[in-house]
Amino acid sequence: LSGGGSGGENTIIPGTASGFPPFEMKEGDEVVGFDIDLLEAVVDETDYELAAWEDLNSFDSLIPSLRNGNIDVIAAAMTITPDRDENIDFSDPYYSANQSILVREGGDFQPSELSDLQGRQVGSQSGTTGEGVLQGMIEDGDFQESNYNAYDTYVLAVTDLENGNIDAVVLDEPVAASFASERSVSVAFVYETGEQYGFGIRSGESELQSALNDGLATVREDGTYQDLTAEWFGE
Ligand code: GLN
Repeated sequence: LSGGGSGGENTIIPGTASGFPPFEMKEGDEVVGFDIDLLEAVVDETDYELAAWEDLNSFDSLIPSLRNGNIDVIAAAMTITPDRDENIDFSDPYYSANQSILVREGGDFQPSELSDLQGRQVGSQSGTTGEGVLQGMIEDGDFQESNYNAYDTYVLAVTDLENGNIDAVVLDEPVAASFASERSVSVAFVYETGEQYGFGIRSGESELQSALNDGLATVREDGTYQDLTAEWFGE
């Protein structure tokens, strides 16, 4: 990198929100994970260069930070949704996921479908598709708003679940599996949403969008993508 600072016009600032293993997590002062490695590999295939990663305090602040120019690309296991698509643009999809319902490992509460959550204390991270599942149930009268617990991060939600303050957490399946392997929680069931993650960019930045899509296609073809899924998911 020449000159320091944020560099020339082809230097883009990547933003994420750690605490979402194995997509992005903190290791000492650094953020590491599948999203970090994948975006770096993709951008390597383009004329762009990445500046240092910005690790935001909350998932909720990623889209505002992108729109106001503090970051230039979001790599945060962000699901491509119609609502978000109105405010930002996305790359082609790079990962598919469903939602999982996490409970305490070996606990009495072992739900097998969403309606079992009725009357229980349930948590998710603010602004996520997991929260969206619960909001949908609230709108349909299938869940009580006063039983919903919103957290700034899923790490806090899982800690409250372990401590017995809440009974379940709704979150992306691969991340639930990661928490289940390291904490005293387990996956009760999977709710299929068929969502897909994309890199977020400001609306109308079609040059960057094409570059990212071409880079994604290249890393899928040359085996890099598979190497990264093997490394981070053991697939
Ligand atoms: N995929 C989910 C969403 O986009 C969760 C992402 C996250 O918490 N990093 O809402």
